[in-house]
Amino acid sequence: MTTIDHGRSLRTSGPTSHLLDTGESPSCPRCHTDDYLIFEEFVPARQADHSTDLLPASASYSCSECGTFNAHTVPTSWRPPQWFWYS
Ligand SMILES: [Zn+2]
Repeated sequence: MTTIDHGRSLRTSGPTSHLLDTGESPSCPRCHTDDYLIFEEFVPARQADHSTDLLPASASYSCSECGTFNAHTVPTSWRPPQWFWYS
């Protein structure tokens, strides 16, 4: 078990698909907007199985405008627009 170092000043340029340890609201890095995003998966923040740690919420999405795919952690309070749960 490692401790996540919140290096908020560290940013890589270009499209990435690895998990960021700081949740950011989804946005297309090429179009610089969330207007065209199609959300494919969203996992809300949840408790880890064997600890009290809260696992960050994450989402994966693609941009219908340019085709960029992205997946990363998102803010705990964030929800995809018009998101609904299948029951
Ligand atoms: Zn785009």
